[in-house]
Amino acid sequence: MTTPTVRPGIAERLSQMIRIPTVSAELDERGSAPFEEFVTLIAELYPLTHEKLTLERHTDFGLLFHWQGTGAAPDRPVVLMAHYDVVPVDESDAWTHPPFAGVIADGSVYGRGALDDKGPLIVVLEAVENLLADGFVPPQDVYLSFGGNEETYGRAAEEIARVLRGRGIVPWLVLDEGGAVVDAPLPFVPGRAAMIGVGEKGVMT
Ligand SMILES: [Zn+2]
Repeated sequence: MTTPTVRPGIAERLSQMIRIPTVSAELDERGSAPFEEFVTLIAELYPLTHEKLTLERHTDFGLLFHWQGTGAAPDRPVVLMAHYDVVPVDESDAWTHPPFAGVIADGSVYGRGALDDKGPLIVVLEAVENLLADGFVPPQDVYLSFGGNEETYGRAAEEIARVLRGRGIVPWLVLDEGGAVVDAPLPFVPGRAAMIGVGEKGVMT
């Protein structure tokens, strides 16, 4: 068995992502430049992903990557989701490090979006990039669905779902953000735990 490729520098790449203030609720004030900058950044940071996968944009803030599989499992398409927008910063909050500085300290990357949701987004891209470097081709088609307005109930994910449905693609698995790896997440759970969500509460508006 060969050792899988793991490209060094993930902390620095996450830091670069955090330094771009993709605050979707402040779109009017900040404009769409940070969001375009983010799209450009991931193209630079993940060259194989952008070479081997097709990328479509749906609405201004929806990115849909398609990784063609071998065809061995055509009935099991997988959708890996994340969002690259973040919630606003309350200036009165006490931050250990500034929210958009992307400081790397004490073995952690600090900043707005580190957990929600640029951390989960980066592990998807890192996994795909590393697997591509190893020449891996998945048995099924894999879709990466990234939105830039999840926190504002925007239409990116909705439109991507509509596009997939229109193409007759029924996902076998959809994996989106969930809990984090945290210390003592619940009163009866000592130690470190990875919180896995298997449901999502609905929103009715
Ligand atoms: Zn989120």
